[in-house]
Amino acid sequence: MWALRDVRLPSGEVVDVVVDGERIAHLGPGAARGVAEAEDGAGKLLLPAFVDGHVHLDKVLIRDELREHDGTLAGAIEAIHERKRRYTVDDVSTRARSVIEASVLLGTTRLRSHVDVDTIGGLTPLEGVLAAAAECADIAEVRTIAFPQEGLLRDPGSYQLMEAAIEAGADVVGGMPHWEVDEAAQRAHVRLCFDLAERFDRDLDMHVDETDDGGVRTLEMVADEALRRSYLGRVVAGHVCSLAAAPHDYAERVIDKCLRAGISIAANPLTNLVLQGRQDRGLVRRGVTRVGELRAAGVNVLFGQDCVKDGFYPFGRGSMLEVALISAHATHLTSHSDLAFALKAVTEAPARAWRLTDYGLSVGARADLQLLPAPTWEEALRLQPLPEKVWFKGRLVAQNSVRSKLHRAN
Ligand SMILES: [Zn+2]
Repeated sequence: MWALRDVRLPSGEVVDVVVDGERIAHLGPGAARGVAEAEDGAGKLLLPAFVDGHVHLDKVLIRDELREHDGTLAGAIEAIHERKRRYTVDDVSTRARSVIEASVLLGTTRLRSHVDVDTIGGLTPLEGVLAAAAECADIAEVRTIAFPQEGLLRDPGSYQLMEAAIEAGADVVGGMPHWEVDEAAQRAHVRLCFDLAERFDRDLDMHVDETDDGGVRTLEMVADEALRRSYLGRVVAGHVCSLAAAPHDYAERVIDKCLRAGISIAANPLTNLVLQGRQDRGLVRRGVTRVGELRAAGVNVLFGQDCVKDGFYPFGRGSMLEVALISAHATHLTSHSDLAFALKAVTEAPARAWRLTDYGLSVGARADLQLLPAPTWEEALRLQPLPEKVWFKGRLVAQNSVRSKLHRAN
């Protein structure tokens, strides 16, 4: 048993936290009294460790080996084909591992990674990420989503690979219905994903409508299917860019369906800011989904890192603090309640989408924690400090220290 004395919660309250084994045992003013192993938190900010609910660990860090392309989603997917053919399990696991380690150093201890499942790379991306997850099991929890990046009907053989991926250890069923050639194929894609999820009793986390074309409407297909099968609270839809381009009354109707189906939305503003709006001149669209309306309606919205130096996005370093900051810019988050929402979008919201029951700063929750050298969440968001300490299952797994010095003339 050990304790942290005088740490500040995001609410502003100063408390002690007592950790017993993997769990938070006590939390409150004076709770550390009598605990022999107690360190002074000095009023610094204590947050639950971040959750990255949407990342592609199989593709990370390949950017420098790809040819240049037009900067669009289609351009990136094509440019990656050549590299994907050359993936090996070792290659994928080495890259994935380095981003998992970087993420832990920056305060993230849970990651949910899509892994391409298609006839180009077969199961190599999954096997590589599973190997990295096993190697990093002492510092982070990594789950995988079988993701048919090249489509299901467009890529014959991929459905069988999806089945094999689930049997080989993928946790969640992915999808990408808007990538199919027409509406009938999109519907079939959605049905196939739900069939697979039902058969294996898995949650779904699909890439949905990652386009500025407001006529692309597979989010509604996903919501209808979830409602029809009563697959409630078990579906995440990622990106959902075209919802922003659709007429307002249509968008409101679909948002209501998402709410009723308990669908979480993984808005990934960083990648979509650079991928979308490429054809626009003058007023260039941001390509980000309707975060404000979804939030107002009560839909669970999370922000994910999505990409780390891959074919889609040349930046990213596994920092959910950076993800929250850039997403705040992209979605007009500036008021106090907006900034509290930005924190939720990288903590509680992805935890809820993942259906974690032991997440957060409360008694009984798993002690995945981080201590930040900032007095408040808003200052942490503005100043982007490194966490001084990060704990995973109650064990210290990362430490950072920064020494800065200003040399004045006299
Ligand atoms: Zn993605």
